[in-house]
Formats: sequence, C-alpha cells, structure tokens
Amino acid sequence: MKEKGAAYIWFDGQFVKWEDAHVPVYTHALHYGTAVFEGIRGYGANDNVFVFRLKEHMERLLRSAQIYSITVKHSVTELCNATVELLRKNNLKESVYIRPLTFVGMHGIDLNVTTNSPTHTIIVAFPFGKYLKADGLRARVSSWRRISDQTTPPLAKAAGNYLNSILATQECRRDGYDESILLDVFGNVSEASGENVFLVRNNKIYTPSFADSALEGITRESAIKIAKDMGYTVLERSIPRAELYMADEIFLTGTAAEIVSVTSVDGHSIGTGKEGPVSKSIRQTYEEIVTGGTKEYMGWLTPVW
Ligand code: PMP
Repeated sequence: MKEKGAAYIWFDGQFVKWEDAHVPVYTHALHYGTAVFEGIRGYGANDNVFVFRLKEHMERLLRSAQIYSITVKHSVTELCNATVELLRKNNLKESVYIRPLTFVGMHGIDLNVTTNSPTHTIIVAFPFGKYLKADGLRARVSSWRRISDQTTPPLAKAAGNYLNSILATQECRRDGYDESILLDVFGNVSEASGENVFLVRNNKIYTPSFADSALEGITRESAIKIAKDMGYTVLERSIPRAELYMADEIFLTGTAAEIVSVTSVDGHSIGTGKEGPVSKSIRQTYEEIVTGGTKEYMGWLTPVW
C-alpha cells in the first residue's frame, strides 16, 4: 500500500508500530492471494469520527473467509472493538479508510488451505479523502469479463479477485476512461472494478443481482434502503449491456467511491450528460447519513470519540 498507515497497526490482537509490522516472504497469501479483506470508511464530522456500517463489514469479512475455509480467530464484536480502539490509539479525528485483512501465513506451498491453516488478521487505518473523481465518470465496458461463481466466487471479497479488477482498471485508464464496467460470463452487466452499478430508467432503479457476479456491496444495500425509503422502486435483475446506453442515469456505489454518477459509457452520453436528479437525491441523502446528519440512520454509524 502506498499510504503509510497510521503509527499503530492492529496485528493479531496487539497494537504494533507501523515499522515493526512485518510478515515473512514465505507468507502463503503473497504467493497465492489467500486473503480476504474489507474496506471501511470513517467520516470525520461534528468533532467525531463515524465508522459506517462497521458490523456489516466485519460480518462480510467472516463470510468471505468461510468460503475459503480461512479461519478468522476473532469475533465480529472483537474486530469492531479493535477498529474503534485502533482509531483512538492513533488519535485519528479525520475521515479515514480502514482495511481489515485476514491472510494465510506460513503454510508452505501447500494449496490445501483448511480451517487449521495458520492465519493472521491485521487492521490498518489512514486518513482518506475522495477515491474517484466526483463530477461524473466516463466509463467503458471492459473487454475483460468479471470473474464468475464458476471460477473464483465474486461474493467473497478475496484478495486474488482483484487481479480481475486490476486488468479492467489498467485497460480503462490506458484508454483515457475513469472507470470500467464489467460484464459477467453471460454478457450481462456485473459491476465496476470496485463498485456496484445502478441504472435509472423512467424513475425506476435497477441493479444487477448477486447471480450476475456482483459483490454483496454494503453501499449497494444502503443505497437500496435509502432509495426505497425515499419512495423509489428498486429492482434487482440482469441488465444487458445496451440497457446502459438507454439509461436516464447511472450511478456506482462503493465504500471508497461512495455514490458517484457515470455520465458516459463507451462514449455514449447518459441522460443529460450530467448527474441526474435521482442519483443526486440518493447521493445527497447518503452524504448526510454518513456524517451523522440523519437521526433515523444513526444505527449505521459507530462513533469513535
Ligand atoms: N464490487 C467490488 C468488486 C468491490 O471491490 C467493492 C468495494 N468493496 C464493491 C463492489 C462495493 O462494495 P461496498 O459497497 O461494500 O464497498
């Protein structure tokens, strides 16, 4: 990671100084991608830091691990408490990105990872701002297909899966686009390199289902709840590529990217070519919620201070 983490890292239940947190070069995860991880945001607001949907992220970490028989030696509650303690220990009072990671350690070259294989869990945090540009993304449909449940299940947030996202990102940036949208092996819209995809047609909102090789995104689920609470109809169904070009609006959701509009796909302008009203209203509500501005959704936030 380019970012130097904050001074302390949570490493297998202990706080270890950044410069002392090492792993052996034989670490299994380094060779085979045998790691599962989370990306979580904490929002600095009102003299506090609010961690967004901390419990849901840690629950997904455990589900991802379960798919690969990777043992996480800590409970969801322990991991949530560790995250809050980590931010306090590092005196972080601004917006942060939090990265919990469980990886297979010294397991030799043996591919038979079992629940008895040695694993380690770390949590790192660092100050973080915007991930993608905020004023409308130019997307392309990738020539790479999204990984499939028939190969490496996209429902696990596993390190190795991101090789697929990296190929798609390299291709789109090389060609001058901001972000890539991947189709699944059947040719339907799956997800972006690190975000779920939504489209709006005639005021109805559509997003691919998990059967379309999309990650069970926590921002996705939050956006669906927000949209339904605002009175929108939200449907989870397969989306063919051409429907992207027909959309009134397209937006992406993800922890790092938050809620961001796509204003063109493969050079086709989407709607007016600017963020549309439905996307805007959901994005603005989301931004209020994550910074503690909406009483009804305070249950989604864990205050650190
Ligand atoms: N899809 C992929 C491939 C991702 O990496 C992410 C980011 N975790 C998402 C979707 C969005 O998930 P979330 O909203 O939980 O961050």
